[in-house]
Amino acid sequence: MAKLSDKLSNLFGVGTVKSRDLTRLELTTLQDILFDFPFRYDDLSRAVKISAVLPGQKITIQGTIRSMTTRRSQRSARLQVTEGIVEDDSGAIKVIWFHQGFLTKILKPGLVVSLGGKADDQYGLSLVNPVYEVLGKARVAKQTGRIMPIYRLTGGLTQKFRRSLVEQALVAGNKLPDWLPARIIKEQKLTSLHHAVAALHFPANEEDRLDASKRIKFDEFFLHQLLHAKTRRELKSQLAPAVPFNEEAVKKAVSKLPFILTGAQKKAIWNIIKDMNRPEPMNRLLEGDVGSGKTVVAALVAFNAAQDGWQTSILAPTEILAEQHAQSLGKLYGDKITVALYTRTKRRLGSKEVSKAQLLSALRNGQAEVAVGTHALLTGDVLFDRLGLIVVDEQHRFGVRQRQALKDKKGSADGIPHLLSMTATPIPRSLALVLYGDLDRSILDEYPAGRKRIVTSVVEPGEANEVYDHMKREIALGRQIFVVCPLIEESDALGANSVNEVYNEFVSGPFSGYRVKMLHGRMKTAEKDEVMRSFANGEAEILISTTVVEVGVDVPNATIMYVEGAERFGLAQLHQLRGRVGRGTDQSYCYLHATDKLSGLAAERLRALQNSENGFELAELDLKLRGPGNIFGTEQSGFERFKMGTMQDIDLMAAAKDYAKEVLDESPNLDLFPTVKNRLEDYLLEVHFE
Ligand code: ADP
Ligand code: MG
Repeated sequence: MAKLSDKLSNLFGVGTVKSRDLTRLELTTLQDILFDFPFRYDDLSRAVKISAVLPGQKITIQGTIRSMTTRRSQRSARLQVTEGIVEDDSGAIKVIWFHQGFLTKILKPGLVVSLGGKADDQYGLSLVNPVYEVLGKARVAKQTGRIMPIYRLTGGLTQKFRRSLVEQALVAGNKLPDWLPARIIKEQKLTSLHHAVAALHFPANEEDRLDASKRIKFDEFFLHQLLHAKTRRELKSQLAPAVPFNEEAVKKAVSKLPFILTGAQKKAIWNIIKDMNRPEPMNRLLEGDVGSGKTVVAALVAFNAAQDGWQTSILAPTEILAEQHAQSLGKLYGDKITVALYTRTKRRLGSKEVSKAQLLSALRNGQAEVAVGTHALLTGDVLFDRLGLIVVDEQHRFGVRQRQALKDKKGSADGIPHLLSMTATPIPRSLALVLYGDLDRSILDEYPAGRKRIVTSVVEPGEANEVYDHMKREIALGRQIFVVCPLIEESDALGANSVNEVYNEFVSGPFSGYRVKMLHGRMKTAEKDEVMRSFANGEAEILISTTVVEVGVDVPNATIMYVEGAERFGLAQLHQLRGRVGRGTDQSYCYLHATDKLSGLAAERLRALQNSENGFELAELDLKLRGPGNIFGTEQSGFERFKMGTMQDIDLMAAAKDYAKEVLDESPNLDLFPTVKNRLEDYLLEVHFE
């Protein structure tokens, strides 16, 4: 009998071509098949008598084929039409397939078939392109007559073939062990793992499917929370350098700043310094709107650490952001601190370009006190002298595990480095407790004085022309424009389509003759960096992009943020986009262009942006209006790691979190829960490759 670990390529009926196609979907074993769930379903469970078929319905019929013919269409010779008549004891109906002439060889008159699909009356009442299945003696339909799973396909793969693999996998996975403690299953009213997996592929009905997906979501959340909590506990038991507060030096540095710190900044700095003073690893999140002044907080705590010989490494999500950080830190520090920049293409020590070898040695011997870079800083041959603090800007993924990996890089420091994560994503309290409950948080909810209000307006569909005129006036004054596009559909997760469309519309119409650049997720990192850099250098007037610009590149010369399809974004996200402008001294504007006529709710949401400049307030409002699913862009929530779980399932996540705590309290090394321990070990391997 087949086992779940069996390779698909060894199965009967899977040749090299199919095997290659499956590999492209990252499916190599029956186990993979079992856990690659349908991305949607086609409900063909309504079986009806032929006489009861009505146009527009999705149904399944069973009957005998009376005739089958294939011909060219009268309207277009290129169109091949196969037409059949199928009859049951109540009547007969026409069935039409396009471009499937081979069916006359399969669906011979006299055979009993089950057909599932949509009834149509465009060609007289008929079923058009239905799924077909020849029934054996038992007349049991498998491919029709129920809720049909629809899977990802590529190359020559078909739904039928994928389903047949799933059936084999379900047989092989017959005794899928349930690893969750029975008490949790009972209290949470979860179905067994085996039933859940089977029902996700072939649900008996909608309720069955929902129960099944709840179980799978719970498993994902529980593992995630367990791993998180366990690593956190292990981390807590480790040492970190106790960095003294060098009060005098810090006070002096503060007094030399070109501005006065806000109360929120002072409080954050003080909390971080206190954390770092203890010999246990700090794990703190610094939250604050774009422009709330997070950089100077990081700069000052790094400065304090440097007084005692501790190095700080600051990680930015992109090369250009790393460069900007290095630049602004250089300005803040003057010659007090040596800042190093290390990215794929740039190595700088202070204001000097240096070779890679020189830079590595400056990190190694401690000459570089603050090192700014991308993830390159954590790879390969980089070694520090005494790394005491890691600051991570806008990278929610950087967590406890990556920090463990740094142990080898930190040089002679005691224990592992402290961690400060920074984010501009405003996270409502209720969500933060579940998502980051084990992090200490500092919030910059006070804005530096003298910030200009960004004038925000909602633009109704069809009213964009006035905005285009305003853009042209700003460009004439030498200013620049951001245009941000939404993702059109889920499958277009990189947003290339919408960016391309708007780009073509702009350059062929209102902005022909202007310098317009575009940026989207389908471009290579180096290419993206290049576009961003050239826009920041003023080499284009308009930048059209997906939300990649959301993460903080500073272009002080940009004065208009124009958001296409604004109704599709979360308020907090729009607020962050708005923060991309207004960074210079000029009055800036944010236009929210709705591409669809706004419903009352959508209008209310967008108007909220006109009236509020507080990211937290907006995030709370969005949470209330639309639920937790829309607060972040998908990349930001951390939820993209889950196969099924979404932000809407935050309550289930909260429950999973409580259980993870209970289980670990009862058995910190999980020895009392051997099946959980095993599953967690597998999960660790899975996430290791993220
Ligand atoms: P973000 O939180 O988005 O990273 P930055 O740290 O880049 O914000 O700060 C935005 C701007 O505000 C910078 O030019 C910085 O020098 C300035 N700034 C920071 N703190 C203050 C303050 N307390 N008063 C005035 N300006 C400040
Ligand atoms: Mg910043």
